Amino acid sequence: MSFLDGFFSTGGQRGGGADDAARRRRMVERQIRRRGVDDERVLSAMEEVPRHLFVRAGDRSRAYQDSALPIGHDQTISQPYIVARMTELLEPDEGLTALEVGTGSGYQAAVLAACGIEVFSVERIAPLSERAREALLQAGYADRVHLRVGDGSLGWPEEAPFDRIVVTAGAAELPDPLREQLADGGVAVAPVGGRSTQWIRRYRRQGDRWEEEEFEAARFVPLIRGDEEEGR
Ligand code: SAH
Repeated sequence: MSFLDGFFSTGGQRGGGADDAARRRRMVERQIRRRGVDDERVLSAMEEVPRHLFVRAGDRSRAYQDSALPIGHDQTISQPYIVARMTELLEPDEGLTALEVGTGSGYQAAVLAACGIEVFSVERIAPLSERAREALLQAGYADRVHLRVGDGSLGWPEEAPFDRIVVTAGAAELPDPLREQLADGGVAVAPVGGRSTQWIRRYRRQGDRWEEEEFEAARFVPLIRGDEEEGR
């Protein structure tokens, strides 16, 4: 990266410049495909979505590195690999609907939209939701992503049931309202565990029967319910 990268950058456009596209291809090869994600829809969505539009302006040069990044308000945009892995576990498909709890930067929502999913995403911090809205608009996914400010652990009852549910904040369990809002045959993916470490879990609903599988460890910011406060 030289100072000229910034000078010639066309970062305001969808997809950004050639440099950004090259960085994304490298990100997909080295961080994602090499670690075992092989769902082609997910790989092409990760290659398509301009992640640099979802990080803070001062972090754009770091947008494609192998890590989470701060997005303000003590929250983070997840590591690219984790977004890809959770999207793969969600078994994405064209025409499905998904609820996301924890819009954050809007990046995960954009990746789902790039897989052809209609996304309903809830965020409790209004300024983050507002910034996500702008990034989604700039990146060209606003028509397939609906945003709301509120407590996402209550879901979005007016739009339920959802074919897919993804929770992007850590909790001790999948909240009951989310279980209720998952369609029969639907799949939910959530980081479940303690405050410092969680395991990515997949829930599959077959009527009243629930199948649960556990995957790798991850470290998400906590899911804050109702009028709970952070830092407790
Ligand atoms: N999916 C995001 C990363 C989310 S970080 C991305 O792609 O960038 C987790 C987000 O969950 C934070 O923005 C946090 O404010 C939000 N959050 C925590 N508890 C929540 C709740 N109960 N309802 C909605 N959002 C919540």
